[in-house]
Amino acid sequence: MKVLKFGGSSLKDGPSMRKVGAIIASDNEEKVIVLSAIQGITDALLEFMSKVRREEEVQRFVGSLRDRHFKILVEVVGSMDIKQQAVQLLTDKLVRLERVLYGIIYLEELTPRTRDLVQSFGERMSVIVLSAMLQDMGVNAVPIEADELGIITDGQFGSATVEMELTRSNVAPRIHEMFRQKEVPVVTGFFGKTPEGYITLFGRNGTDYSASIIANAIDADALEIWKDVDGFMSADPKVVQEAIPIPALSYEEAAELSYFGARVLHPRTVEPAKEKDIIIRVRNVFKPEYEGTAICPTRVEHSRVIKSISSMPNVAMIKAYGAGIGSKSGVLSEISMLLSSAEINVYSAATSQTCISLLIEESDLERAENVLGEAKKGVIDRIETFRDIALLCLVGEGLSQREGIAGKVFSIVAANGINVSLISAGASATALTFTVRREDLAMTTRTIHQEFFGG
Ligand code: ASP
Ligand code: MG
Repeated sequence: MKVLKFGGSSLKDGPSMRKVGAIIASDNEEKVIVLSAIQGITDALLEFMSKVRREEEVQRFVGSLRDRHFKILVEVVGSMDIKQQAVQLLTDKLVRLERVLYGIIYLEELTPRTRDLVQSFGERMSVIVLSAMLQDMGVNAVPIEADELGIITDGQFGSATVEMELTRSNVAPRIHEMFRQKEVPVVTGFFGKTPEGYITLFGRNGTDYSASIIANAIDADALEIWKDVDGFMSADPKVVQEAIPIPALSYEEAAELSYFGARVLHPRTVEPAKEKDIIIRVRNVFKPEYEGTAICPTRVEHSRVIKSISSMPNVAMIKAYGAGIGSKSGVLSEISMLLSSAEINVYSAATSQTCISLLIEESDLERAENVLGEAKKGVIDRIETFRDIALLCLVGEGLSQREGIAGKVFSIVAANGINVSLISAGASATALTFTVRREDLAMTTRTIHQEFFGG
C-alpha cells in the first residue's frame, strides 16, 4: 500500500501526464494518488483574485481555465465516453467556480475563507483529467475531493494544520473500501476542511503535506513524492554547479532543509509520515529509473558532517530596543505571539539585555513594524530594521554538537571577507543557520560547498 504524489509541473501538458500515467500503471500494488493543480492554475486563480474584476472578466477567465483543461483532456484520452464524462465533471466544477467568482463581485468582499475556496478549484479539476486518462489506460481510477474524503483541519485559512485523529477515522475506512472495490483513488491535494465544512489550504505546495497526511491515515508502506527534480541536492544547483544529489536524509534533516528554503518539499511534509515511520522517497517523473532521495526515520550515516546547504535569499532583521527588554520575562514570547497572530513567521531570534533581534521574511517587514510599534509602546523604545539580508542553513545530523564545525565554517567565510551576523547553532541539533548580506549569498554558498564537498 503506497501513496504517490504528483506536482503541477508533472501535469503541465499531455506528454507529462502520460509519464505520470506510466509510473502509476507500472505496478499492481494498492495505491492512492494525490495531485496538485495543473501547472500555473493556482497562480492564475490567485492573480484573478488580486484585482477588482468585472463580470465579463469572470467569463473570460473561466473560459481560459476550461480551454486549458479540455486541451490536455483531449490529448490524453481516446475513448469518447470517458472524455464526455470528464467534460461533464469539469463543467460542473467550472460552473461552481464561476458562481463563487460572481459572488465576490456582487458582495464586493473577498474574505480569507473565500480565497481558500477559490484556490481549491485547481486541484478539483486536475484530478478529473488525470483520472480520465488512467481510466482510458484501463486503470480503475476514481477522482475524490479532500473535503469529501474527510481531511479535517484546524481552520487556519491559508496555512492550516491537519487534525490527524479525525482525519484518520474519516479517511482510512473510505480508502480501504475503495481498495476492496479495486479502485485507485485520485485525491486532491492542497486543502482540507474545518469540522464545520469550510475549505482551508495547507499553504503553497501543500499537496506534499496532503500526501503525507493520507499516508499516515492509511498506514502506507511508502510515500513517493514525484517531482521534476532529482530530489534533495547538496546545494541549489542554480548557485553551485558542482552540487550533488543526496541519496538519503533523516526526517530532521529534510524538515530543516525544507523549512530553511530548499524548495523540494512543503516544510511540514515530514510530520505526518514521521508519526508512523513511513519512508518518504522524493523522485523525478522525468527519470523514473533514478532512486532520488529517501527520507528515513533513522539517522543516516554519512561521511560528511554537512549534507546540504539551503538558503532563504529574502529575509530582513528587526531589532527592538528597550531598557532591560531581553531580561524582562515574557517579552519575547509576547512578541512572538503578536507576530504569529499577524501570520508573520520568525525564523530566528536572539536577545541581549537591551535588544531583541528577529529574523523574518522581508515581505513581512512593514507589517511586523506596525504590529510591534502599536502593541509594545512602553516596552520597546525604538525599532531598527535591516533589509537585503539572506539566511544560510547548513544541515547534518549532530552538526551543532560536532566540535569545530561552526568555527571552521566561520573562518572560511571570514577569510573571504564576508560578514556574518545572527547565528543560531543551538535551536536544532541538525541545523546551523546564520545571516549574510544578500549580495554575499551566492559566494558564501559556493565557498562553503567547495570546502565541504570539494569540486
Ligand atoms: N497547487 C498548489 C500550489 O501551487 C498546491 C501544490 O502545488 O502543492 O501551491
Ligand atoms: Mg505546485
